[in-house]
Amino acid sequence: MTLRIEQVESGVQRLALSNWQGRRAGYEVSAFLMRGVLVDTGFPRVGRELVRAVRALSPRAAIVTHWHEDHSGNAPALVEMGIPMMMHPACEATLRERPDIAFYRRSIWGRPHRLTSAVTPFDPAPLQIIATPGHTKDHQIVWDADRGIVASGDLFLGVKVRVAHAHESPSTLLASLRTVVALEPRLLLDAHRGVVENPVPVLRAKISWIEETIGEIRRLAASGAGEREVQRRVLGAESLVGWVSLREYSKLSLVRTVLRETTSLTWSL
Ligand SMILES: [Zn+2]
Repeated sequence: MTLRIEQVESGVQRLALSNWQGRRAGYEVSAFLMRGVLVDTGFPRVGRELVRAVRALSPRAAIVTHWHEDHSGNAPALVEMGIPMMMHPACEATLRERPDIAFYRRSIWGRPHRLTSAVTPFDPAPLQIIATPGHTKDHQIVWDADRGIVASGDLFLGVKVRVAHAHESPSTLLASLRTVVALEPRLLLDAHRGVVENPVPVLRAKISWIEETIGEIRRLAASGAGEREVQRRVLGAESLVGWVSLREYSKLSLVRTVLRETTSLTWSL
């Protein structure tokens, strides 16, 4: 397990977290410290290093962007340490429930401990927490309006993300991306891509790509193509992570989430 602390700019630090399992899968995870608030808590397997770093950095509080274990993985430990914390109520409910997670995620990141202690809330001002569902229902970002910095969790991840979890909502993600573009951030702190400078053009490119992709998927499906054919023609052959995850995080899942929304517009919170 490695934890590297980098200075992004004055008052903003990046905690780069990785292990060999994640590196082999091509994933590094970042947590960020802005205005003394830790955004995200890393994955369970890097727990010891994360707790040590938190003791050294002594953040005044922490914010969890969403329930996925590479973001909320050490939240229970930080709550036990008495660190005030903000997360979406649905995120807290998930951490208290401690659902089982797919084998590939458990083997790369580990499975979080159950959250059992009471969470102490705090006032994040001048930081703002903005709901940005889509990637998950409980997803939220942290916005520093004075400095034009957004800690965006898994909202961005890249322009052309051809895989999705079965529980994602592409149309809701589009609305959330538009919300962030309207903020005109100067700097975007992405949990897997790291620091993205001048992010508005790439956020706009992502919006266009998702709109086009949704359109192509709907057109092909309406012409009678089956979901696997639609996947092959619009997104190409299934990705490695798609096979490793037994299609939980896959190109086929992206097609299915789009087609699910085509027939049903409800994605209740
Ligand atoms: Zn995520």
